[in-house]
Amino acid sequence: MTSTYDADNIFAKILRGEIPCHKVYEDDIAIAFMDVMPQSDGHALVVPKSPSRNLLDADPAALAAVIPLVQKIATAAKKAFEADGISIQQFNEGAGGQTVFHLHFHVIPRYEGVPLKSHGRDMEPDDILAAHAEKLSAALKGGK
Ligand code: 5GP
Repeated sequence: MTSTYDADNIFAKILRGEIPCHKVYEDDIAIAFMDVMPQSDGHALVVPKSPSRNLLDADPAALAAVIPLVQKIATAAKKAFEADGISIQQFNEGAGGQTVFHLHFHVIPRYEGVPLKSHGRDMEPDDILAAHAEKLSAALKGGK
């Protein structure tokens, strides 16, 4: 089993602009975009720009810098998707449920009594992801 950072992982490619995503936010620290296989409407990912496989090898300063952005996306997602709550998920290594080996935080709108869909199983149509990204972006800008 490898435990080194692979710069060819899919999120590194998204960060470099080599493959597209439905981006909702970007600053010097991180980007946020819609998960292509959402477990709930509005499921977004916050991906720090600094390279690490996951939380275990991350620079503590990079972790500290990204958490306020996770909070910002979570607050906007709760508003945009009129959620009852938000789950933040973060997986480490395959045994821990991780499938993409660049640190990221899942921000998932939740509703009373509604279970999450399966992790990384059903691809959402692109037009729906685009509409959800627009909604989340608007909430981030202070709109509806
Ligand atoms: P992990 O299991 O590593 O915590 O989560 C990886 C997440 O990335 C999964 O929820 C999966 O749906 C999502 N994902 C995988 N490939 C892509 C991709 O190419 N683009 C986007 N936006 N999300 C992806």
